[in-house]
Amino acid sequence: MFCAVFSDIHANLEALEAAVAHAEGRGIRQWMVLGDSVGYGANPNECLEWVLRHADCMVTGNHEAALLDPRIREWFNPAARTALEWTSGVLDAALRERLRGIPYVTAAGDAVFVHGSLDEPEAFRYLFSFEDTAGTFAAMKTTVCFAGHTHLPGCFCENERVGRRLLPGVLTLQAGARYILNPGSVGQPRDGDPRLSYALYDSVQRTFEIVRLPYDNVKAADKIRRAGLPRFLADRLL
Ligand code: ZN
Repeated sequence: MFCAVFSDIHANLEALEAAVAHAEGRGIRQWMVLGDSVGYGANPNECLEWVLRHADCMVTGNHEAALLDPRIREWFNPAARTALEWTSGVLDAALRERLRGIPYVTAAGDAVFVHGSLDEPEAFRYLFSFEDTAGTFAAMKTTVCFAGHTHLPGCFCENERVGRRLLPGVLTLQAGARYILNPGSVGQPRDGDPRLSYALYDSVQRTFEIVRLPYDNVKAADKIRRAGLPRFLADRLL
């Protein structure tokens, strides 16, 4: 398997298009999407359409779940909830229906894909520290688990018993070790680096590469403001 792993696209079309173009340049034809393709950004229909058309694997994020079940919106902070209500208002009805068929967890080859934690995927728990990963490692039947949700590119190796933030570059996975790998966020990075983040995974070479790329974040932020969404969501991209 040689694939791109995207998470938390968050309706940011400029970031998605830049990530796709870059991955295609690297020869990628297989796309894995870890959820939260919508919410916060101004292009939920375009982003969701791309994902539904191209993703070989995709899972439900909390933002997709909240589109289908308004009760979940109550967990959201005010800016996220405002953006979700706006998204719900503009989302194409046929696209919304297709969200119902998307699982919380899916597996392919030696890897499993989830938005938050694997043990209770519909609870969307965050994996920030190694202590947070016990349930996910216990539930894993594969050597690798891809998870997003924190918007922070990172790696948890079961042997090392520590969580590490990942800078751009290639991580070679140890033979026999199990990993939880986070590609960061395509559409809303939260680590102080405004460049989009995604990952390339090669199951034969056992490599996980974090890619960071500049994209037209000024345009993406401008669209958020013009849509009347909370200003904070635009400023966060810059
Ligand atoms: Zn997210």
